[in-house]
Amino acid sequence: MKKIDIMSLMHEEIAGLLPKMPKYRTDQIFEWLHRRNATSFGEMENLPRTLRSELREMFFIPKISVVEKLISKNDKTEKFLTKISNDVFVESVLMRYKHGNSVCISTQAGCKMGCRFCASAESGFQRNLTAGEYLAQVYNAGEDVKNIVLMGCGEPLDNLNATLRFLELISHPKGKNISQRNITVSTCGLVPQIYELAERTLQITLAISLHAPTDETREMLMPIAKTYPLAELMQACRHYAEKTGRRLTFEYALAHGLNDSVQHAKLLAKLLKGILCHVNLIPINKARSEFSPTPRREVEKFAAILQEKNTPVTIRRSLGGDINAACGQLRARRILD
Ligand code: SAH
Repeated sequence: MKKIDIMSLMHEEIAGLLPKMPKYRTDQIFEWLHRRNATSFGEMENLPRTLRSELREMFFIPKISVVEKLISKNDKTEKFLTKISNDVFVESVLMRYKHGNSVCISTQAGCKMGCRFCASAESGFQRNLTAGEYLAQVYNAGEDVKNIVLMGCGEPLDNLNATLRFLELISHPKGKNISQRNITVSTCGLVPQIYELAERTLQITLAISLHAPTDETREMLMPIAKTYPLAELMQACRHYAEKTGRRLTFEYALAHGLNDSVQHAKLLAKLLKGILCHVNLIPINKARSEFSPTPRREVEKFAAILQEKNTPVTIRRSLGGDINAACGQLRARRILD
């Protein structure tokens, strides 16, 4: 019989697979896995020996280890290279803010989306990560994680089942119990999955990587814009905000001379009018050399136009640039350069 990855199982699934086990045992197993970082069933000392060997026969705990850690000299951002399985590596990032630590995790090894400014798809797509592999990245980042962003390598809505499983597991009261309000899921704009997510009325923040207010510019940056034009995407966003009552975030990376003009800012404000939302502006990071970041003064001007039009906006700091840990710089493979 093939063993099952117990880290990716919901609380009730564990109970369902061991119907004769008393209920409180499921809590104990769940706590060992998700609070006490157990790496083997042998460690679970409050479980009877017979149950431990039963668990060993049915399940396995995936071995996921950090193989390299880099720390930014500028801002103490930490980048972890995690070995997930033979030949599969992913990167995750711990950012330190005054309001607490945030961890940015990867959802796929590689990416299929091919955004032109992002390094994650450069070496292709390897595979989806499991919910347990999402969790391991959070657990390996240390104890004091307050916020989680699904903004590393990969497209979380292209791996929707694992993403939903992860959200339930990480916020489970018997596990890490991290509130969904402290979790952001970022998407390049997969319209059908946005509708599907809306049905779940989760407490998470959904972030949309917009990057352009017109189809023409967006298509130049993001191939997915050809499949889902802005009219369809914005309709899905409106539906999401109305259905969930949650404020959306729109990510906008400013590339000099490309999407950062006064006209772009005005069109953006018009596009977002009437939607419960917030815009995050960030000068585009050098990941692929063809784009250069908009200078600070022009970023501020862009933000001022949005503000004038009553569109809430924040200019984001870019962290971890010196260790290639900034947005768009994460990838699936270990590249020794
Ligand atoms: N696939 C998801 C999540 C991963 S990308 C998505 O597209 O949203 C996380 C964020 O980093 C996205 O907003 C993405 O557009 C942004 N990003 C990618 N490359 C970047 C770059 N070079 N500079 C700034 N932001 C970038």
